[in-house]
Amino acid sequence: MATATDAAAAIARPTAAPRPAERPPTAAAVEPPMVEVHDLRKEYGQVRAVAGISFAVAPGEVFGLLGHNGAGKTTTIRMLTGRTRPTGGKAIIAGHDVAVARDAVKPLINLVFEDQNLYERFSGRENLRIFTDLYGTPRSRADELLEEVNLVEAGKRKVKTYSTGMKQRLLVARALINRPKVLFLDEPTRGLDPTSARDLRALITRLSAGGTTVFLTTHYMEEADELCHRVAFLSQGQLVALDTPRELKLRYGQRTATVLTRDRREHRIRLDDRDDAARLASWMADDQILTLHSHEGTLEDVFVALAGRPL
Ligand code: ATP
Repeated sequence: MATATDAAAAIARPTAAPRPAERPPTAAAVEPPMVEVHDLRKEYGQVRAVAGISFAVAPGEVFGLLGHNGAGKTTTIRMLTGRTRPTGGKAIIAGHDVAVARDAVKPLINLVFEDQNLYERFSGRENLRIFTDLYGTPRSRADELLEEVNLVEAGKRKVKTYSTGMKQRLLVARALINRPKVLFLDEPTRGLDPTSARDLRALITRLSAGGTTVFLTTHYMEEADELCHRVAFLSQGQLVALDTPRELKLRYGQRTATVLTRDRREHRIRLDDRDDAARLASWMADDQILTLHSHEGTLEDVFVALAGRPL
C-alpha cells in the first residue's frame, strides 16, 4: 500500500522516471510539475469517491490512472479539470489552484470525456471550425488537426455518418484546438478497433514528445504499459501504487521463464521459486535446455496483486 511518505515522495519527485527508457518525458527533470495533487478528496454524501490522494505529473509525461469501476478515476479527472469541486485538498495545474483560478487553468487544459458530444448534422470540419472560432484560433488549425487525426476526407462528411473511432478521433482533434499543455483523456480507446486504437496511441506519444502532458484513464493494461511513463493505481479512492510500469511489474509481477528441454517438453517456471530454480539448475547441469525465454510480469499481475482481482 502507498503510505503518506510514498505520496510525499511522489510529489517531491515528479521527474517521471523514464519508463520506456528510450522515450523519457521532455524536460521532466528540470521543470516544475505540470499537475500537482495534494491530499485531494471528494465525498458524495456517505460515498468517499476520492479519499485523499497526492501525486505530481511532470511536463510531457503520459500519466495513467488505473482502477476498477468506481475506484475514483473519473472523479479525480473531474476535480483536476474544474468540473467538480473537491471536498478537500488541492489540484494544481501549472501552478494554479484549479478550484480558485479556473479562468487561468481553462486555456491550459482540454479534455476528452465520455459525455461529450459532437454536432452530428455538421461535418467534421465544421465541428472543428465552431471551436476554432470560439477559441479565436485561425480556421486553418481545423484542417491541420483533421490531418493529424487522419480525417481529411471524412472531414467533409456529416458526423452522423462517422464510426465510433472516427468520432473519437474528432473529439481528440477538438480537444487539441487550443494547444493544451495538459490533455485529459477518459478511456480514450474505449470502443475503438485495434487500428484506430493504435493510431490514437501513436498520436498520444507524438503529443507527449512535443511536450504536452497527457493524463489518461484506461482499463486496458497493455495500453497503459505501452503508453504511460508512470501509472497510478486507485482502489476505493486511495492511491495504492505509483511508479513506472517496469518498476511495478518487477515489484509485484511474477517473473517467469519458459524452458524447452531436449525431450521437447515445455516448462513454465517461476524465477522466484526455490524448487523451480533447482529444476533449472539441474537441467542446465545436464545440458538439457534447448531454449530459455524469461518473461517479466504484466501490469495485469500488478493489478491483481494490488487489488485482489483482475481489472
Ligand atoms: P469507472 O471506471 O466505472 O468510470 P471510476 O473509477 O471513474 O469508475 P468514479 O466515477 O470516479 O469511478 O466513481 C467513484 C465513486 O463515486 C463511485 O462509488 C461512484 O458511484 C461515486 N460517484 C461518482 N459520481 C457521483 C455523483 N455525482 N454522485 C454520487 N456518487 C458519485
